Amino acid sequence: MQRQEWKLGSRRDKQCCPKTLDKMKRRKRMQFWGEDVNNMPIFDGHNDTLVKLYLPERGGGRSFLERSEKGHLDLPRAREAGFAGGFFAIFVPSPTVDYAASLTRVSPKPDLLIRTENGYEVKLADPIDFDYAYEFTNEVITSLFRLEEAAEGAIKVMRNIEELVDCLDQNVLAVVLHFEGAEAIDPQLHNLEAFYQLGLRSLGITWSRPNAFGWGVPFKYPASPDIGPGLTEAGKELVRACNELGIMLDLSHLNERGFWDVAKLSDAPLVATHSAAHALTARTRNLTDEQLEAIGDSNGVVGVTFTVHDLRPDGGLEGDASLTDLIRHIDYIAQRIGIDHVAFGSDFDGATIPKEMGDVTGLPRLLGALREQGFDDAALRKLTHENWIRVLRDTWND
Ligand code: ZN
Repeated sequence: MQRQEWKLGSRRDKQCCPKTLDKMKRRKRMQFWGEDVNNMPIFDGHNDTLVKLYLPERGGGRSFLERSEKGHLDLPRAREAGFAGGFFAIFVPSPTVDYAASLTRVSPKPDLLIRTENGYEVKLADPIDFDYAYEFTNEVITSLFRLEEAAEGAIKVMRNIEELVDCLDQNVLAVVLHFEGAEAIDPQLHNLEAFYQLGLRSLGITWSRPNAFGWGVPFKYPASPDIGPGLTEAGKELVRACNELGIMLDLSHLNERGFWDVAKLSDAPLVATHSAAHALTARTRNLTDEQLEAIGDSNGVVGVTFTVHDLRPDGGLEGDASLTDLIRHIDYIAQRIGIDHVAFGSDFDGATIPKEMGDVTGLPRLLGALREQGFDDAALRKLTHENWIRVLRDTWND
């Protein structure tokens, strides 16, 4: 597709220039993007597109390489929107229960959704089996490599920061392989390095269910994320091992005690790839002011989710949220911990997103609305890609 452009990359000048000179050149190129808001690459904290494509009953058999009206994200729509890449998650669905469905419509299993006096709680999902998670994850990774091959250079799985900067520069869609929950990793961590070699560069310790490493938060409103115990011993070992390999740890979906365990143990910036502000929407998935402060203090970042339920002030499972609701969360976090620590974490193809956004092609509308709210070029560059690049540069080993 864009094979020629991709081949004309800066591989050659990288070999003949001293590293610092090379970096200066890159920085200069990155600044170019900022001259026009419509020309800014958008790097995003979270999508579930790989799993949606892999499971025909979710993805409807669409191809990532062809434009579709289904789902939120494919290559043609990404190009149109300036979506330059992001964290592509592998989430292992519970084999027997459709939890995602139970959140967005009348639950097919009403016993999962409990209405409370002023809100609701979705029962915490059961743990899943390692063998099942391992097999499912490997199958989705295989499908990703097949997609990379079929894209003929238009898509690339990232293994280091230079590749990421090159891809954003050259209009190659940058895929960071992320696991949303560590169920496919054995508690002795024997297979962690193998996954690293395959391309794993970001790991959410839990989804919203318990596993061998920690406890995820149930979906609950209004409620504190302080539900359940902290990391297990295996979870603490996992944090150390990820620090050593340079795998980014993602704290979205982890409960609060687990969050503080990571904050204590990890020597990398703290990151939540797709969460919002608990002070505005008191949902368990959102971050308290103390958690936000800790992320800011560690020079980390929050990818603000576009998930309607996490943005609506009432945490409602029905109805819509507006771009204004989304910007309110972005602005709150920027005011609280600084613009250097906020980014996007859309949850495309994994959640109900605002109708005003529609799909990935709504991103320019979001940028326009942010600009109207007073976010200038420098702030938009940070939000759209610079903060993510900084955090990955500080976290990855190369
Ligand atoms: Zn999620």
